[in-house]
Amino acid sequence: MKLLRYGPHGAERPALLDQDGNMRDLSGVVADIDGDTLAPENLTKLAALDLASLPLVEGTPRIGSAIARPGKFLCVGLNYADHARETGKQPPAEPVLFAKAATAICGPNDDVEIPRGSEKTDWEVELGIVIGSRAKYVSEEDALNHVAGYALVNDVSERSFQSERGGQWIKGKSHDTFGPVGPWLVTKDEIADVQNIDLWLDVDGERRQTGNTSTMIFGVAHLVHYISQFMTLEPCDIIATGTPPGVGLGMKPPVFLKEGQVVTLGAAGLGEQRQVMVKT
Ligand code: ZN
Repeated sequence: MKLLRYGPHGAERPALLDQDGNMRDLSGVVADIDGDTLAPENLTKLAALDLASLPLVEGTPRIGSAIARPGKFLCVGLNYADHARETGKQPPAEPVLFAKAATAICGPNDDVEIPRGSEKTDWEVELGIVIGSRAKYVSEEDALNHVAGYALVNDVSERSFQSERGGQWIKGKSHDTFGPVGPWLVTKDEIADVQNIDLWLDVDGERRQTGNTSTMIFGVAHLVHYISQFMTLEPCDIIATGTPPGVGLGMKPPVFLKEGQVVTLGAAGLGEQRQVMVKT
């Protein structure tokens, strides 16, 4: 299934994409695409619905983030060896883990704000893991049983705030609109091999990033297992799994985003995003 949310920011309604690519409203069935809805037994119920019985969504409404605001928006850094190299770092011995404020989450095609004082706003196309059931001290073998599905994420980053202002990366990762998620949450049964998904990102139509999840240093199952050794993952939590090479910081000289530029990105089977950079 492809689950999504549509409507004005903060008042999104849940929906499901049918086989013809039409949105079917789910608000008579579930409250939101949230932790309750993503529980395995509830996804099974949704999968059994007669889609033709659900109201068709008319027009072309705004698409919201694919999931309701999560309890945790976690990110993995330097998880592709070639990206680690372009940032001048050694591939890590253990996953590099950091957080993005949950308030950064936004729709896949919303404008992205360049923060006040920013000169180094950058892009990162990533595979996002969405948790479906509580995961605490789970084994790698059991880890995928706790995953509801996957979504495309742009881990928008301000490099100066991230690395030149002291302390932790969270400062450079958390501005409002720095977390476009969607267009859809694709349930895991639709993904044949999560470690073989092509990713790409363009700036103003020029290809900047090309990658495949097959070159992740730490795969999806290991990441869920690993993170669950430190904290409990709850339904609707999201984990951005790291970015392949081609970020602005890695260019020579580095190149960063300016007002009016357009970032487009995609992942095979997970849809596409388009963001215009705006001032705030
Ligand atoms: Zn990232």
